[in-house]
Amino acid sequence: MKTSRRDFLKLGLAVSSALVPLPAIAQRAASRVVVVGGGFAGASCARALRQAEPHIAVTLVEPNATFTACPFSNAVIAGLRELGAQQFTYERVAATGVDVAARSVSLADGARLAYDRLVLAPGIDIRWGALAGYDEAAAAQMPHAWRAGEQTLLLRRQLEAMDDGGLVVISAPANPFRCPPGPYERASLIAHYLKTKKPKSKLLVLDAKDAFSKQRLFQAAWAELYPGLLEWVPLSKGGAVTSVDVATRTLVTDFGRHQANVANIIPPQKAGRIADVAGVADRTGWCPIDPVTFESKLQPRIHVIGDAAIAGAMPKSAFAANSQAKTCAAAVATLLTGGTPSTPKLINTCYSLVAPDYGISVAGVYQPSPGGQLADVPGAGGVSPADAPRATRAAEAVLAEAWFRTITAEVFG
Ligand SMILES: Cc1cc2nc3c(=O)[nH]c(=O)nc-3n(C[C@H](O)[C@H](O)[C@H](O)COP(=O)(O)OP(=O)(O)OC[C@H]3O[C@@H](n4cnc5c(N)ncnc54)[C@H](O)[C@@H]3O)c2cc1C
Repeated sequence: MKTSRRDFLKLGLAVSSALVPLPAIAQRAASRVVVVGGGFAGASCARALRQAEPHIAVTLVEPNATFTACPFSNAVIAGLRELGAQQFTYERVAATGVDVAARSVSLADGARLAYDRLVLAPGIDIRWGALAGYDEAAAAQMPHAWRAGEQTLLLRRQLEAMDDGGLVVISAPANPFRCPPGPYERASLIAHYLKTKKPKSKLLVLDAKDAFSKQRLFQAAWAELYPGLLEWVPLSKGGAVTSVDVATRTLVTDFGRHQANVANIIPPQKAGRIADVAGVADRTGWCPIDPVTFESKLQPRIHVIGDAAIAGAMPKSAFAANSQAKTCAAAVATLLTGGTPSTPKLINTCYSLVAPDYGISVAGVYQPSPGGQLADVPGAGGVSPADAPRATRAAEAVLAEAWFRTITAEVFG
């Protein structure tokens, strides 16, 4: 097959170099790995594979020329940052199908890429229709902003256009979903925006859960920073949104109706569509994997990493996606050379901003459990101290930004 160099994402590591003849010392047949998805998981994995085993021919497939990162996109919504600071560019190509029997991936232009091992890292898709009344047309009025880009800017513009004294409503989904602390960081930064720009306004968070990530830290900070402005309604008090009416911007729960001036619907989610096409997603919509190799439990030779995977206790975060990508790359390289992958330990840290100078974090370490899942390593990890001084919160806000700079430089630099 003749494939133009333009079709391959370069990421500064020339993943297309396997298309040119290998030097004489590397004349054994190169194994082929195709990685679908150039986000935090896929781009990290392609890079780590090249580093682990230069003889593997790695092809990274990604439909967008610009990757727009979700971490820190809540700060864009609150007017604290521009979308350009979230964007990273590369060349593009989309995967449209996977032929498991022939071990090949088809691309949007009809080309096929053969693989010995395939890594799928497509992130999430919105489960359109799972929330009555919420479809793609509704998202143009009541944005989700859960995939960064135009949706992020739409939500920001709506907040900017709202009169002082308006009601902003966020609907947070049941587990599992991308970025467990994300809705609460968003609520915090929108509350910061309202407090500083539109102080007569109110923010209501309607939640389909009774508990959430870093809850005690968030709630203590809300009581301190946003009293009377931000109200959180849990599931047990009627927080679950059962339908939306776009025409009147109304969110309906079993307990009442809330007419919003700005409504941010964070809807139920599932693994990116290609996972379904490849037959690696189960009835939950997510992808069960082996916790040592990230190989699908449903299709041999296909690995799933990042948000699309069911990774046990590991949250769906960019940090986790990067950790999983490195573990998966090492396992794939070992499997392709006939070895046995070693049992990994993976880490995650999630920072959240409650205000521009107020950061909190949660960290965890994970290992495969006898039940075949990724489980917490007892005693490892933890959250920011509850009684920390403001200087510690300010330091964590600086660390959050440093983390984003470091990971995006590593993955997309
Ligand atoms: C508001 C918000 C704030 C967040 N903040 C943080 C944070 O502070 N820290 C943190 O760690 N995480 C954070 N996250 C979570 C983080 O964004 C995700 O966990 C992370 O992006 C997951 O990486 P991924 O590679 O699985 O998916 P993505 O990063 O979404 O990448 C998936 C890629 O696959 C591509 N793709 C999909 N289908 C195909 C196909 N058929 N062919 C080719 N390519 C395809 C997509 O175009 C995309 O580029 C946040 C998320 C949100 C929404």
